[in-house]
Amino acid sequence: MDTGNPPEAVADRHEAVLVVDDSVVQREHAGALFRSLGVAQIHEAQHGLQALQLLAELPVPPCLMVIDLEMPEMDGIELIQQLSRRGIRIPFLVASSREGALVRAVESMATTLGMPLLGGVAKPLTAELLASALQRCHAVETGEPLLPATGLPMPIAPERLEAALAQGLVLPYYQPKVDIRTGLVRGVEVLARWTDPVLGVVPPDRFIATAEKHGLILRLTQSIADQAMGQLASWMSHGLAMSMALNLSPLVLQTPGLVEGISALLARHGLAPGQLVLEITEGSVVSYDAQTMGVLGRLRMRGMGLSIDDYGTGFSSMQQLARIPFTELKIDRSFVHKAHQQAHLRVILQSALEMAGRLGLVSVAEGVETLADWRLLQQFGCTLGQGYLIARPMAGEALPRWLKSHEARLPSLRMPTAESETS
Ligand code: C2E
Ligand code: CA
Ligand code: CA
Repeated sequence: MDTGNPPEAVADRHEAVLVVDDSVVQREHAGALFRSLGVAQIHEAQHGLQALQLLAELPVPPCLMVIDLEMPEMDGIELIQQLSRRGIRIPFLVASSREGALVRAVESMATTLGMPLLGGVAKPLTAELLASALQRCHAVETGEPLLPATGLPMPIAPERLEAALAQGLVLPYYQPKVDIRTGLVRGVEVLARWTDPVLGVVPPDRFIATAEKHGLILRLTQSIADQAMGQLASWMSHGLAMSMALNLSPLVLQTPGLVEGISALLARHGLAPGQLVLEITEGSVVSYDAQTMGVLGRLRMRGMGLSIDDYGTGFSSMQQLARIPFTELKIDRSFVHKAHQQAHLRVILQSALEMAGRLGLVSVAEGVETLADWRLLQQFGCTLGQGYLIARPMAGEALPRWLKSHEARLPSLRMPTAESETS
């Protein structure tokens, strides 16, 4: 097929990009930026259809596409869907001058389709943005996992994690969950931290996925649960009564004997099942089979709490959620922080809290970072709050000291009285 582009000209895949935009000015702007970054071949298309035609004809595909959303003939949304249908997985950026909510909606659509989206960006494009996108394309082509748009670091090698587990370097940290009306501590969420002598404190984003992928998640969860329950028992013996929330990966739910295992661990530490809440992400609920539902039902029957974590990010249906005996709805921080600034977040937050209330579920807002977030949650009748405003996750031995300092803050966190609300 003669395309006017001899294969030699694009022999190096890194040298070619495709800009899909109906505006000539925008295409030229993107082209100039790519050229300044040393990209030799800049293909252009005015809309989705033209882009698909071009991709079918090009002897070597581009390494990166920039896709505008609003275009005649075929818009950016349909283009992404068509690319997915045709199995064309070229990394791309979505660029739009429209409001953030639209770009976020497209981002989640692309993620759901499993498309290699590098991120949604607001126009005008900048050289820094494109340079970072080009860099991330290299990772895709060398078979490394795609870096999320947030630029999170790469996951860690499984051998390293296994050694860290064996050496007891993966520890539970604790973040308080507090009563929204009073600020009083009701429980803690247990968050895994790998404290490495060389790497420093490694956050879970860098090793949970590795643990899941390489058969280490059960060991990790057992170790964290055991240490955390020991800590809770010790706090209790010093008069600190509270509940504890553990994060459970969906893989762990498939472990034979899980219900008995957790019950035995609780008993060994002298804890009541009602003190334990198991957090399960909303995203994983979609894939539960009858076996997993049975496990959740049995955990609940034994008296443990079940929380839907990251609520609002998981695309579960009401029907799927209704089948699981949840006791708590934990609203994702993306709806909590900034809800006081953005009307659409506020509406989602308020309806989720209302729904939780009507279903008799405890509602938890995560990612409470400011007093404005906090006041809004009080106004909306949320049950518990968790976030940097109250405390960052901390080591077990730091908690008693933190509790003392927190007591002094209670008056400023308390819900304004009924009189001051009506006046
Ligand atoms: P998650 O369950 O949604 O946990 C909440 C995350 O939000 C934690 O991140 C916490 O440090 C962070 N966070 C808390 N308050 C704020 C805030 O006000 N603002 C912001 N921006 N962030 C806040 P972390 O500790 O890095 O954990 C990340 C994820 O790793 C957790 O998300 C959870 O899904 C997973 N994870 C952590 N520990 C375990 C574990 O033991 N087992 C499993 N399966 N997953 C775990
Ligand atoms: Ca959680
Ligand atoms: Ca969460």
